[in-house]
Amino acid sequence: MCNHTTEELLIECGENVIDLAIGNVKAGGLPFAAIIVNQKGEIIGKGVNQVAKLLDCTAHAEIQAIREASRNVENSSLKGTTLIASGEPCALCYMAIRMAKIMRVVIVSDRYEAEKHGFDYLWTYNYRNAALFHELELLTLDNDRKLLPFQLAKINLSVSAQLSTGLPVSNR
Ligand SMILES: [Zn+2]
Repeated sequence: MCNHTTEELLIECGENVIDLAIGNVKAGGLPFAAIIVNQKGEIIGKGVNQVAKLLDCTAHAEIQAIREASRNVENSSLKGTTLIASGEPCALCYMAIRMAKIMRVVIVSDRYEAEKHGFDYLWTYNYRNAALFHELELLTLDNDRKLLPFQLAKINLSVSAQLSTGLPVSNR
């Protein structure tokens, strides 16, 4: 087993990616973050969802992390690396992961947990060809704080709605 798959490192990466996602919510962004580690266990790229900030519909956390990692290693291929995502990648991101030749993905919350908390991108999987992904290794990491980024984002959304309408907003 490679260094970067050790349980301790994955647990640490899970904590890091949740902290990043929480930081992005506090900065007004969406509760999604990703980090990429190489085979030595070094972080080579980080990303958070910057769709609204950059007015770029492809600026998902995973894609931003891929962009940063590729710049850092000066290679568009990230073969042998592992991507850790706070929320399961959408179909677009799975494709970008595949194109970057990343074969191992670790998720903290899955697509259904995201959907349950108001972030529904289940429709994207209608465009995903399962055959392309059979070789992808997908692991789920358990973490007590895994839903915190979604919960904070929900509170932010409801506070900003209350501020704009002056009326209390019921939970979704
Ligand atoms: Zn995505």
